[in-house]
Amino acid sequence: MSTNIATMAYIAAIILFILSLGGLSNPETSRRGNLYGIIGMAIAVLATVFGPRVTMAGVPFIVGALLVGGSIGLYAAKKVQMTQMPELVALMHSLVGLAACLVGFASYVDTSTVFPTEAEKSIHEVEIYIGILIGAITFSGSVIAFGKLNGKIGGKPMLLPARHWLNLAGLLAVIWFGGEFLHAPDIDAGMLPLAIMTVIALLFGIHMVMAIGGADMPVVVSMLNSYSGWAAAATGFMLANDLLIVTGALVGSSGAILSYIMCKAMNRSFISVIAGGFGTGGGTAPAAAGAQPAGEVVSISSVETAELLREAKNVIIVPGYGMAVAQAQHTVFEITKLLREKGVNVRFGIHPVAGRMPGHMNVLLAEAKVPYDIVLEMDELNDDFPTTDVSMVIGANDIVNPAAEDDPNSPIAGMPVLQVWKSKTSIVMKRSMASGYAGVDNPLFYKENNRMLFGDAKKMLDEVLVALKA
Ligand code: NDP
Repeated sequence: MSTNIATMAYIAAIILFILSLGGLSNPETSRRGNLYGIIGMAIAVLATVFGPRVTMAGVPFIVGALLVGGSIGLYAAKKVQMTQMPELVALMHSLVGLAACLVGFASYVDTSTVFPTEAEKSIHEVEIYIGILIGAITFSGSVIAFGKLNGKIGGKPMLLPARHWLNLAGLLAVIWFGGEFLHAPDIDAGMLPLAIMTVIALLFGIHMVMAIGGADMPVVVSMLNSYSGWAAAATGFMLANDLLIVTGALVGSSGAILSYIMCKAMNRSFISVIAGGFGTGGGTAPAAAGAQPAGEVVSISSVETAELLREAKNVIIVPGYGMAVAQAQHTVFEITKLLREKGVNVRFGIHPVAGRMPGHMNVLLAEAKVPYDIVLEMDELNDDFPTTDVSMVIGANDIVNPAAEDDPNSPIAGMPVLQVWKSKTSIVMKRSMASGYAGVDNPLFYKENNRMLFGDAKKMLDEVLVALKA
């Protein structure tokens, strides 16, 4: 393939990636967006493998790698449950980071490229240094995020004494070793500062994510998403591959925008989340004595739930992570359909961090064919709870916790939540009194107008559906 054809293919792939991102911004166009992404990636891979920079001798290796990588991807796509998607995404981000590190070290020891001027050589070395730095932070940070998301590492933030000073010392060391690296007379001499910086970056990635509290994990996930984009862009610079630079920049900037949206949704400042320690209530132990919810909970049966729903005029359903675990979205849709046929105004309230990944609930509801026009964002219906007869909370916890508004010592203080307790009756569907991802008690359960429907969400909703049909 000539350079011109490869360049044209790259431009086509870039356009398809941009269209893909545009499509993914709305559930109605997301399938098309996904398709554009698939076609764009196929073109990008083919144009690279058969492009001018790959010799025929290299093709068998690339095909072998494609087969291994493709098979692992196919296996993971078939095997991984929807609830495990966030962990899988975190793991994939870690691979992008690892790739950036490996490419960085490989291009440093590769002596085949001859640089016409000393300045160009230095620029290439800066690319290598920064690429490995971002890659190593992304790699170790994503591995820790993977552990936190699948519960292997506890959600509580690990707060080292003087952690901000440690971060600052790390940053200064990275800058100093950068100078040593750039002034190294040969590859052997440059390897030591490069390796030391890599270790510091790996430790920084671990420290950064370990210091983040449970409820702030969504910001970290989107931030690592952004980092993985910048790591890919850095790899593009090291390999002088324009497509990788543009694609990486697209992922990096869209991840940064998503992080900003997440921070805004959770009323956090981006800097404080990165600096760590959030989700700890500013250093106060979670659930301080005064915040302990008190009182008794009142349970309700599925038949009583069906009666309340049948008599209601306005119903708001608030889905959370538990709906994903129970795979209850199809029954939720059946119930919604039935109630709407009876003239009940049913709407869904979606919190920006509900579930375990951005858009988690929207994906599940779209899969169950819930009409998009009744699925509303938190801001769009939070004022409507006082005029709502029944709010049905399905496997959600942190996103409906009134302590976020009422208790300044709460680890989730300041995070906007869906105010279900303001409706006439709220019904919380969950299996036990266990807390949610942030590990915080929920005073909602003890409110006078709240009822608890204990059990697996799918099982309980199936019973509610039967009772509604009766
Ligand atoms: P939570 O994790 O707060 O609560 C989920 C609740 O679902 C649990 O209390 C659990 O209670 C219940 N549950 C679990 N399985 C079932 C089941 N089979 N049937 C019925 N109930 C079930 O989820 P939310 O969606 O309310 O909040 C999301 C949390 O996750 C936030 O803290 C957010 O910060 C965090 N997070 C979000 C990410 C994102 O991008 N959206 C990423 C990472 C973290 P029980 O065990 O008693 O059944």
